[in-house]
Amino acid sequence: QHYLGRIEALDPSYNSFITVTAEQALSQAKAADELLASGNGSALTGIPLAHKDIFCTEGVKTSCGSKMLDNFIPPYNATVIEKFNQAGAISLGKTNMDEFAMGSSNESSFYGAVKNPWNTDCVPGGSSGGSAAAVAAQLAPASTGTDTGGSIRQPAALCGITGLKPTYGRVSRYGMIAFASSLDQGGPMTRTAEDAALMLNVMAGYDSKDSTSMDQAVPDYTASLKDDLSGLTIGLPKEYFGKGLTPAIEQAVQAAIKEYEAMGATVKDISLPNTDLAVPCYYIIAPSEASANLSRFDGVRYGYRCDNPEDLQDLYTRTREEGFGEEVKRRILVGTYALSAGFYDAYYRKAQQIRRLIKNDFVEAFKTVDVIMGPTVPNTAFALGEKSNDPVSMYLEDIYTISTNLAGLPGMSIPAGLVDGKPAGLQLTGNYFAEAKLLNAAHQFQ
Ligand code: GLN
Repeated sequence: QHYLGRIEALDPSYNSFITVTAEQALSQAKAADELLASGNGSALTGIPLAHKDIFCTEGVKTSCGSKMLDNFIPPYNATVIEKFNQAGAISLGKTNMDEFAMGSSNESSFYGAVKNPWNTDCVPGGSSGGSAAAVAAQLAPASTGTDTGGSIRQPAALCGITGLKPTYGRVSRYGMIAFASSLDQGGPMTRTAEDAALMLNVMAGYDSKDSTSMDQAVPDYTASLKDDLSGLTIGLPKEYFGKGLTPAIEQAVQAAIKEYEAMGATVKDISLPNTDLAVPCYYIIAPSEASANLSRFDGVRYGYRCDNPEDLQDLYTRTREEGFGEEVKRRILVGTYALSAGFYDAYYRKAQQIRRLIKNDFVEAFKTVDVIMGPTVPNTAFALGEKSNDPVSMYLEDIYTISTNLAGLPGMSIPAGLVDGKPAGLQLTGNYFAEAKLLNAAHQFQ
């Protein structure tokens, strides 16, 4: 009731929720009370959460921020939702997001932009902007997000919270509406690393319904939070500290690194030489996969359908013309072009080759370091509207986060103080399945 009250009073200023499920939340709370009374509760029993509107929720609208799915009520739960239900967690509702998770500012949502709680003239970041703003404004203690190229970490940085993108395959994608299937990964958005560990304990694990889910034991992510950091080697990639990085953000990050040194960590300069290829490589691969994934929205099976189609072609054309927003159409066009017979080798195949080079850079780096650190984003939260007509400058928001997804590695953003009154983020990237190490390093800093 406390959080529902806050949402009702404050969310009109932030627009972080698309759907609030008050009745369901209160009945889940009652069930949680009973579960706890019977002694069968777990750490998350009775904890209210907010879920990005990309996770299918049985009986509750799941829009993915799009007009295309404004009328879509899934008949099933995503595995992540199912796991939280089993743990006795409460769902407060579904959070706002960039349409189909395409964006870095939450301005491409069909439901309007989200405002950053630190400064409502600024964006919260995206695409999980609603989930980040809800946690920052204390409308929910924790939320879920998804990250294809930075969508958990970048809004976490801009809203001053903690966000974790797990290793690709760590968290089931079943029931999580697909954007770019080889990059998408769900994860927690929280106030602290400890909360993220509790959330990941529930979210992680093998799922036979997701063919890319990894069959690997899930450790207790809270077990190593208190380990001391002496002996930890931190790599600082020179490519993450160059041109384009706001000097005050660099100072905040360097101050954080100094604290790590004081805690016993060793710092090492490293190089990820293919970093400058990550954004162009991503903007071939992600739109290509999106163009295939989004072909299912054809007005036939579910979602939006145009009025009075003349024939099948007219049904497809007008449904997609009217149902998708600008950015989504741009991605479908780029992806369709890159995959077309005449250009496949020049673009898609080339991008896949570069993706391997980017991955190899990390494999090399992790031979000598435990965690890679740097800024999450080159800037703090920017003004609403500032980049909305400039797709390329929006794409550059993810310059430090995208490589992690191309390589399939786990990454985290944690608050690193304020710059001009706005949050700055410190990014931690780990080796495959090293989430516990990231959470330990983050917890020690907090
Ligand atoms: N900003 C990036 C994009 O628009 C990443 C989005 C995401 O991680 N879902 O594709």
